[in-house]
Amino acid sequence: MPSLLTRRRLLQIGVAAPFVTRALAQATFDYEVVVIGAGAAGIAAGRTLQRLGKSFVVLEARNRVGGRVFTDTSLGEGFDAGAIYIHWAETNPWREIAQSLGVATLDSSSVPGSFRLFQNGETIQRTNPRAYERLSERFDPDIAPVPDEPMTVRVAGDGADALRAVSTLARMALGEEAERVSALDYARLWSGDDLLVPEGYGTLVTRAARELPVRLNTIVRAIDWSGQGVTVVTDQGRLRAGAAIITVPVGVLRAEGIRFTPRLPDATLRGLEGLGMGALTKIALRFDGARFGVPEGTDLWDVAGPRATFDFECWPFDRNLVVAVFGGDHARDIVRMGEAAAVDLALSRFAQIAGADARKAFLGGRLAGWSLDPFSQGSYSHALPGHADARALLAMPVGERLFFAGEATGGENFGGAMTVGGAFLAGEAAARAV
Ligand SMILES: Cc1cc2nc3c(=O)[nH]c(=O)nc-3n(C[C@H](O)[C@H](O)[C@H](O)COP(=O)(O)OP(=O)(O)OC[C@H]3O[C@@H](n4cnc5c(N)ncnc54)[C@H](O)[C@@H]3O)c2cc1C
Repeated sequence: MPSLLTRRRLLQIGVAAPFVTRALAQATFDYEVVVIGAGAAGIAAGRTLQRLGKSFVVLEARNRVGGRVFTDTSLGEGFDAGAIYIHWAETNPWREIAQSLGVATLDSSSVPGSFRLFQNGETIQRTNPRAYERLSERFDPDIAPVPDEPMTVRVAGDGADALRAVSTLARMALGEEAERVSALDYARLWSGDDLLVPEGYGTLVTRAARELPVRLNTIVRAIDWSGQGVTVVTDQGRLRAGAAIITVPVGVLRAEGIRFTPRLPDATLRGLEGLGMGALTKIALRFDGARFGVPEGTDLWDVAGPRATFDFECWPFDRNLVVAVFGGDHARDIVRMGEAAAVDLALSRFAQIAGADARKAFLGGRLAGWSLDPFSQGSYSHALPGHADARALLAMPVGERLFFAGEATGGENFGGAMTVGGAFLAGEAAARAV
């Protein structure tokens, strides 16, 4: 029979055991937190953890930070290959970050701009401008509740022009075909003023990461979250941490770019299954200074078929560039053609409008094909019809040590989903939750 002393001893050991275990386990961790991905969300998480005095590292697959915010200068003049607008600046944290870093911004309404519409190079008129106006009413929850149904179904009773308008809107704003997007998810987006960053949104985001411990060229392959903490397996070795903030895009998670052991809970998987990635795509064309009579800031919209619309943004910030923007299945097909063929196609379509001199003045082009980019696998997320709860499911912490954050989990109750600002707020919230 154990003596009183022995029993007390046993009791003490029993009470102390959890603390001993935790202390021992912590001693084996390399960091308190590992952040995966150095886009807007990962940068926000890192800045927050730094402010809170936590030990952490940010692992990034690419040879640069910024993710889908990237100012590409390879043509000699910079253009933003991903995000360009600080959307809804009233609530967007990047406005203040730009101010604090001394990076200039411009109200987008103060930038010169005009709009011209073409069909295969020939000027056409908009048939029914009212169809576009009606769209905003259909997706405004203050006017009527918006159901979790395909965007196309939402306007089905409004006639063929409304259907065409919603299809173009979804392709050019979300990069996706309207029938694959939840009307409710679209209706939840913030709305407000937009700012532009003349130096490049990518330049701003890169500067915001300057003080962070980021390991570039480090691809995370697997996360083991059995037992305590997490073991993160990368192509540069493995490390242990108390928790992981995972900011890789939904496209990467859906393609099982990171293997989880044990498998993720059903709720998280349901969240992932309910989200798709659009294919908003850009092709930048560099010219030698010729402007073909097109003023700075002109948007030339070229409709070459029911699904094939290009928006040529001409001479942004007075640079000798035309940036073609397009989305949906048409964009996926073009990205699959490869850069040389895609650039040639964009140049041909631009030359139909600007004239044959465009080819003579052409110096080079770049394709930003996010749909085939291995580290994004799409441009940005949307909830599929019937899955408006998907973002909330993905945002739920797993086992108190896996925290998914990024544009897909939005920020501010998902009103900022899809955006750089929303990604930042989501990364910040995840870091505070850890
Ligand atoms: C063409 C285009 C135009 C856009 N326009 C706008 C706009 O005007 N305004 C706006 O607000 N938003 C816009 N967006 C959306 C915006 O870019 C994104 O919402 C935002 O940048 C997402 O940030 P994030 O941190 O969630 O993801 P990301 O920026 O994708 O960051 C995730 C990071 O994880 C890394 N990663 C991926 N896999 C791994 C791995 N296995 N191991 C380690 N690292 C990995 C990636 O390389 C990346 O750096 C646009 C996007 C595109 C593509």
